[in-house]
Amino acid sequence: MCDLHDCDHDRQARAKRASASPTEVDRRTALGLGGAALASLGMVQFAGSSVPKASAAPGPLPAEDLDLMVIVCDGMRPDELNAEQTPTLWRWATQGTRYSNAKAHMVAETLPNHTAMVTGTYPDRNGVPSNSIWDHGAGDERTMDRADDITYPTVLERIRTERGLTTASVVSKDYLYTILDGKASVHWTPGPLLPVTDHALDHFTIEALKVTIDDHSPRFTFVNLGDIDRFGHMDFSGTSWRLARNQALFNTDHKLWELEQFMRANGSWDRTAILVLADHSMDWSTPFDLISAKELTDRDPALRGRFGISQNGGADTFAYLGAPGDKDAAIARLREVVLAHPGVNRVYTGDELRLGERGGDLVATCHPGWRFSDPTPVSNPIPGNHGHEVTLPIPFFIAGGHPSVRRGQVVDRPVTTRDVAATAAHAFGLSWQDMDASPAAEAFTF
Ligand SMILES: [Zn+2]
Repeated sequence: MCDLHDCDHDRQARAKRASASPTEVDRRTALGLGGAALASLGMVQFAGSSVPKASAAPGPLPAEDLDLMVIVCDGMRPDELNAEQTPTLWRWATQGTRYSNAKAHMVAETLPNHTAMVTGTYPDRNGVPSNSIWDHGAGDERTMDRADDITYPTVLERIRTERGLTTASVVSKDYLYTILDGKASVHWTPGPLLPVTDHALDHFTIEALKVTIDDHSPRFTFVNLGDIDRFGHMDFSGTSWRLARNQALFNTDHKLWELEQFMRANGSWDRTAILVLADHSMDWSTPFDLISAKELTDRDPALRGRFGISQNGGADTFAYLGAPGDKDAAIARLREVVLAHPGVNRVYTGDELRLGERGGDLVATCHPGWRFSDPTPVSNPIPGNHGHEVTLPIPFFIAGGHPSVRRGQVVDRPVTTRDVAATAAHAFGLSWQDMDASPAAEAFTF
């Protein structure tokens, strides 16, 4: 019989995490238990190692009794926020303040945009430009999943240390857990993890969230729900049917309805404002619309072996590996070769996107309905992808029972994933002016 704990493909990551989390419950034990029992057995823990840099003294709390919860519906598209597919989220949005022009930032992926949400900054300041980067030291591609990858203080730390309030992270994906490790006061270890997707189903994440609320009453909680993204990636039912995706949307929405009933019953609904958004949306491609940049560069003698390529779904990043004197000519040639492919939409420098030195020297994005597959045409078999421009628009609204939430309004000005951190800082009387962001202040009466 298959044991998820043993047949997981990424034993190395598991070993690393076990050493970083001495109080983690063995998943063999956890598998036989319900969500509430999981968390009561110690799958939430207190952090204490991370010390962000000092900031200005906090001002008064704008609302003494406000709890703020951020819920990221990973990969949700703005057109999926409607009364039919997501009735709970739609009701919340229409009863709160909805932002109609919200976007992720580039590269439109999970790790850079969650990092944007907790830091309020661009990747050239927060250190996380894409899910996968070229690591010059290791001479290989790697995932940005280490706790020290984030180079700017997070609001999970700042609300805890500057304000002295309990913060919590309850995230479903393994690499989000590891990159945020040690930042919140209370940090749930996601589990049981599904093989391949490396995420906990929303059922377990919501159960862990309920226990975290019951046991710790966090004032700021950061939640990631991974089902919509993970089942969207794997939806082979076609670009228009999206059977698995629609089922995941319905299930996640229903889990959030259950969360609302739980919070109403224990009294926490009326003291909580909930900011719901996605980290990016999703686009679907067929197996015929692939771009293998490795093939393109291998065919060209001026480019062969000169770039480290990091595949990021709807985008590829290129890091120059050759002699410094040849760099400008090689990048100019790469730009020419990549742009000649019919599936490529745009090419950017890292500076244009404010990606910082980890973001590589050039970024290529695909047209809607295409995907990158590197190093080979079979490396990326999944139909759902993001990272490119068409996957930037996201849902974004503020709801919940707290009386400071403004009701029934739609705001058309642009907002971004970075604005989540500024909104959290604003709500807890902390400075946000150093961020590349501004608070969603219209959503509140303070
Ligand atoms: Zn994501």
